[in-house]
Amino acid sequence: KTSILYGLVLFSLLTVLFGSLFVFRSLTQERRLLSMKANFLSSVSHELKTPLTSIKMFAEMMAKGRVQKMEKIQEYSGLIGKESTRLENLIGAILNYTRMERGSQAFHWERIDMAQCAEKVYNALLHIADDRGIKMDLEIERGNFVMGDYTSLYSLAQNLIENAIKYTNPPGHVTVRVKNELDKVVFSVTDTGIGIASSEQKNIFNDFYRVGDEMTRSTKGSGLGLAIVKRVAEAHKADVSVQSKPGKGSTFTVRLRKAE
Ligand code: ADP
Repeated sequence: KTSILYGLVLFSLLTVLFGSLFVFRSLTQERRLLSMKANFLSSVSHELKTPLTSIKMFAEMMAKGRVQKMEKIQEYSGLIGKESTRLENLIGAILNYTRMERGSQAFHWERIDMAQCAEKVYNALLHIADDRGIKMDLEIERGNFVMGDYTSLYSLAQNLIENAIKYTNPPGHVTVRVKNELDKVVFSVTDTGIGIASSEQKNIFNDFYRVGDEMTRSTKGSGLGLAIVKRVAEAHKADVSVQSKPGKGSTFTVRLRKAE
């Protein structure tokens, strides 16, 4: 009887202990999420404010008639146009990103030929690569189906290919591949660009993170591209990996589950 009693007391104690641990863990996770959200919001406001401040300043200068010379007016309106485009892109990226926040509820799940999706993005970006003097290649095996949300998979491919073009100096090379690997559909983008130091490779998927090198600073971007890629991959239960050597180039690989 005594040992049954001790057993019951021990069992109750253990239950309370594990219960408390569980509650504590959930609370910590909740707090971490909240602080991540607050950080995200303050970064978003900061990122939006910078181009807006320039637009406002140039517009005010012109409205007050402080700018008289035709070439200055042209220069300032050009800058307003450029900053507005930056703002537009940034808002687009944020909308894309927050779409991921709502997760799979906002997704429209369907059977998607990943090769076809990659080819669409590739064709849409060919002229940008061409303008930069970068050669692009497409190596796809057709009929590689995944269950996914087309819009998000399109933006995953777009972000990776755009980055490969952006962070490669001419006369560089970008190769986009879709192939079959057992139960996986493997999408990868290889470039002969500037590469990423191994110490930076874990940071680049963080919200708004941009490597502090010269090329990144002179290249337009929000630092949200790879954060979106990571989120899309997570929502599709796929994994993303990066292999890169500074000065040699990078390969980003996404392994998606093949559709039944
Ligand atoms: P960004 O809008 O700055 O391109 P991303 O989230 O797409 O933001 O990428 C984060 C950072 O990772 C970039 O600022 C850049 O420094 C680095 N990066 C991403 N892709 C590449 C690549 N293919 N080659 C070299 N660096 C890259």
